[in-house]
Amino acid sequence: MDSKFNSDKIIIAIDGFSSTGKSTIAKALAKEIGYRYVDTGAMYRAVTLFAMRSGLINNAGKVDNAHLVARLPEINISFAIMPDGSQHTLLNGEDVEEEIRRMDVSSNVSSVAAIPEIRHALVRMQQDYGKEKGIVMDGRDIGTTVFPDAELKVFMTASPETRAMRRLKELIDKGQHASFEEVLANVVHRDHLDQTREESPLRRADDAIDLDNSDMTIESQNSWLLAKYRDAVARKLSKLQQGE
Ligand code: C5P
Repeated sequence: MDSKFNSDKIIIAIDGFSSTGKSTIAKALAKEIGYRYVDTGAMYRAVTLFAMRSGLINNAGKVDNAHLVARLPEINISFAIMPDGSQHTLLNGEDVEEEIRRMDVSSNVSSVAAIPEIRHALVRMQQDYGKEKGIVMDGRDIGTTVFPDAELKVFMTASPETRAMRRLKELIDKGQHASFEEVLANVVHRDHLDQTREESPLRRADDAIDLDNSDMTIESQNSWLLAKYRDAVARKLSKLQQGE
């Protein structure tokens, strides 16, 4: 039972395919309603960067699972709020926000994210972040595994081409080089690995609301999500009033 203090606070789980713009709307909503935002993809990316730096992923993309799992206690992931309000990912205290978005990290991350022990450790951290509710979390398994009881679950989709175009633009804006074909292949390949892994694969939760944003502006997505958030809070409060 929630305390009276946070009875109107909920957990918002935003899952979906790669580069569907989950973080964009998740961040905007968190800011608007004063919730904490957690980017779980950044956590898997940070572990991947640690593995790459430690020589635990070979040139063919093969991960040395056993050694990476053994070194888990050496990996500390945290988030820092920058003066401009943006959130940066820290790996053992180092700001790795830029580096974890590079194409080589994107190419290896789904293999690292398929390792059960890595998932268990990160899922535990993510569940800890949500203890007090009042959180917007985006990822692949938030509504199915991390918070199966989340009051609001959204599942985002868009065509692979739309997603690759958006991702390419992001990379170019950051001064990184990649071709459309390379980004499209990465997006499709990651989706495949994420959907077919054994441990908590990317899957739409049965009670999730779909959002296909292929032809939607960011503003219309933001107002759509804000309305869904208000509905979810109203639903929760009315259940509490009925003593459920
Ligand atoms: O969200 P983003 O594209 O940054 O995530 C990078 C990768 O991390 C995904 O392709 C997926 O392999 C993995 N991931 C995951 N579970 C999550 C979040 C991300 O497996 N909850």
